[in-house]
Amino acid sequence: MKTKAGATVEIVFDGLGVAPGIGIGSVHRHERGRLAVPEYRVLPSRIEAERARFAKATQQASRQIEALGAKARTLPGAAAEEMGYLLEAYLQMLKGSRLVRGVDKRIGDERINAEAAVEKEIAAIVAGLAAVEDSYLAARSADIREVGNRLLRALTQTADAPLAAMPRDAAILADEMSPADTALLDPDRVAGIAAEQGGPESHAAIMARSLGLPAVLGVAGLLAKAETGAMVIIDGGRGQVILNPSPETLALYRSLRAQFLRRRRQLHGLRRLPAVTRDGFDIQLMANIELPAEIEAVRQSGATGIGLLRSEFLFMNRPNLPDEETQYRELAAIVEAMEGKPVTVRTLDAGGEKLPGLTPPGANPALGLRAIRLCLRHKELLETQLAAMLRAAAHGPLRILLPMVTSVAEVDTVRADLLKVARRLKRRHIKLPDRLPPLGVMIEVPGAALSADALAQVADFFAIGTNDLTMYTLAIDRADDQVAHLYNPLHPAVLRLIQFTAEAALRARIPISVCGEMAGDPRFTGLLLGLGIHDLSMAPINIPRVKQRLRALTMTSATQRARAIMDQHDGERIVQLLEDFNRGADPGGS
Ligand code: PEP
Ligand code: MG
Repeated sequence: MKTKAGATVEIVFDGLGVAPGIGIGSVHRHERGRLAVPEYRVLPSRIEAERARFAKATQQASRQIEALGAKARTLPGAAAEEMGYLLEAYLQMLKGSRLVRGVDKRIGDERINAEAAVEKEIAAIVAGLAAVEDSYLAARSADIREVGNRLLRALTQTADAPLAAMPRDAAILADEMSPADTALLDPDRVAGIAAEQGGPESHAAIMARSLGLPAVLGVAGLLAKAETGAMVIIDGGRGQVILNPSPETLALYRSLRAQFLRRRRQLHGLRRLPAVTRDGFDIQLMANIELPAEIEAVRQSGATGIGLLRSEFLFMNRPNLPDEETQYRELAAIVEAMEGKPVTVRTLDAGGEKLPGLTPPGANPALGLRAIRLCLRHKELLETQLAAMLRAAAHGPLRILLPMVTSVAEVDTVRADLLKVARRLKRRHIKLPDRLPPLGVMIEVPGAALSADALAQVADFFAIGTNDLTMYTLAIDRADDQVAHLYNPLHPAVLRLIQFTAEAALRARIPISVCGEMAGDPRFTGLLLGLGIHDLSMAPINIPRVKQRLRALTMTSATQRARAIMDQHDGERIVQLLEDFNRGADPGGS
């Protein structure tokens, strides 16, 4: 913002600090909602490739519409028919219609990228229809725009996304960041992220923490004030975004950033020390990873293995599904890099805010055909993953983890599939491990936690996903900044489900870990230990802080404090008891 005299005015925005650190850079706007369409020239030699990219996008949009069609057929009577006609019309538009031909032609004639060609062609068709005053045709314009938007969404996913090629020290200011967008960012070039939407447990937030990028989400009104190229500070610890900082503010933040980095280096020094409590209990601190690029950070962190490898990265930012060979190579490289330490690979957890494009649209994506449900519906998807995992397991210890499980039958079915896939691979004379990898279950739905005894009979291990467990228990969308203040893993209901699950695992003598964000927050370490969880998996960056915390406490006192906390049903009292404990009142330890 400029004053009348032309000077810029410092503006401070408050939001949710979701990834610590201080980023100082220049504003780069990234608007998803509006589908800001890049326009660039395409070299003559790339025109056919650009047309092929467009053809893929039309196929992807068609598949989505067909999936919608399947759903529309279940609508009552006339609605099914009407929706059916409309979707059929959309499909026709994607098959050799004027729209498709026009875009193809523009790519060649005007030598522009497919997105720009789609926008121009749609504008031309709509302008033609508007010239005739007719309500039927006006409605067709809306349909054409709808199809165009679907195409643009499909295209922007497959583009050589501009996010991958950021200028150095770009600060990304967005309306919303998807995990796939965030995965494209190069942490060596990007200063930080701020977005108008998104909660602290959203996958974009988790991804930002993994990449070590300072991030603030839920910043209302940010884009209205932010001009491209303006100077901005992103304070991911305090949850502030400062546009056009004054020279004094800038100097202050430069020194805060230096302090932050110094502290991080000091913590890094802990990596060689054992993760053991003062009374001698060994704790496993493992890493969650989102992207193969994090492997070096995992090795540096002193993690004893990978407790959660979110395999969604294999499916992100690509126009088609990865085949067995591609998945195998990626996974085997990670297993090899871990040099004998266990790697827990989770099957695809698409749905909700994660890879929404892969799941069919439903009334409520968080409760829909997602994660293991999707994979069980599309067996070829599951079997390809299982085959790749089995092959990667020949390179080192690998465990398979299933997301969003709610019933014993789901685990039984996957186990049968795993055996079938192993037999198939043997027939192909492919090298497999001597024993099949352990098959574990994420406990992240309240129903699964309450069925933990039964699930423990069919699962080889449990991993508690406190992010989703909190969301589903409290009915609070983890990605919605408007209810972020209500999102509370310390809610007695959530704690009881964790305790119930831990006890079931103990009875069945199967390993149990926590791999939700709670595990990486040192404020919760004592409580989780006290509840009987001795394996924690977290973003590698958090391992030193959690190690520091557990080395300062005793299991005896943690267990006593957990008992006291579990006797409470008052949320504030729970927070108080935990804060007192964390402040160093560790009565059992001295
Ligand atoms: C969780 O839900 O806690 C979890 C670890 O899985 P994700 O965050 O990938 O949903
Ligand atoms: Mg989850």
